[in-house]
Amino acid sequence: MLGPAEIRDLAQILGVTPTKKLGQNFVHDANTVRRIVQTAGVEAGETVLEIGPGLGSLTLGLLETGASVVAVEIDGRLAEQLPHTATLMQPGAALTVVHDDALRVTELPGEPPVRLVANLPYNVSVPVLLHLLEHVPSIESGIVMVQAEVGHRLAAGPGSKVYGAPSVKAAWYGDWRIAGQVSRLVFWPVPNVDSVLVGFSRRGAPGDPPGTEAERRATFEIVDAAFQQRRKMLRQALSGVLGGSAAEASAVLERAGVDPQARGEQLGVDDFLRIARALHTRLD
Ligand code: SAM
Repeated sequence: MLGPAEIRDLAQILGVTPTKKLGQNFVHDANTVRRIVQTAGVEAGETVLEIGPGLGSLTLGLLETGASVVAVEIDGRLAEQLPHTATLMQPGAALTVVHDDALRVTELPGEPPVRLVANLPYNVSVPVLLHLLEHVPSIESGIVMVQAEVGHRLAAGPGSKVYGAPSVKAAWYGDWRIAGQVSRLVFWPVPNVDSVLVGFSRRGAPGDPPGTEAERRATFEIVDAAFQQRRKMLRQALSGVLGGSAAEASAVLERAGVDPQARGEQLGVDDFLRIARALHTRLD
């Protein structure tokens, strides 16, 4: 595994100065890596998707289990170096590195990954998660490290103070839980926020969301509108997307079996889906 000295040396050799823009905080603690791999329940022979492998700390931990890893890295210098690091430290390991932006990836080489394990770049963690859950239906479960605030939001349910649009959208795909805290001291450079591990498992069968793609888009639009004005009653907050007036919005909400005086923060993803279905008689 890569310790603090190896991480700094490797970065220096590659001429990599970690950038905030790409959320480059590299893990230099073997115990943290082991904990992530164990919590994810990675097994030999399965294919794991890692986003942002960076200098390879987590990648090496994943490869050590005998799993195949497909790693998507946006930084060309890191993507180019990683196979060499893996060959040196884990000869014969099954690693495929894709040099790309995880937000654009729709097809991956090799066996479809069943698990996502990643220390995600902070600034794009939610869009990356939602994009992958949408476009890589083979992913059944995962463990990701994210900023603590974001992790609590992802795992929040209706009624919680931190429940918001990301919570509902994440729930479209599966069940989420906080799987542990991570000290900021395990990173280089040390970030100015705390991190958590978040676990998820897809609801239903793999690739089996609660509604169609058109329903997902309509639901997410309603969710965004509801949380843009989260203190307002739904009939007001949703008047724009549900017809133009509070009266029209109330009629749609009543058809969906939702109290027009409720607030978005009280509704679960299935309530939002019912509203989308009540609005559009036919969605395709
Ligand atoms: N996995 C490594 C570790 O734990 O030490 C690095 C994690 S670091 C928090 C995030 C990594 O994601 C960086 O290597 C960064 O270059 C990469 N990254 C940032 N934005 C990305 C994107 N849109 N697609 C793919 N990789 C990205």
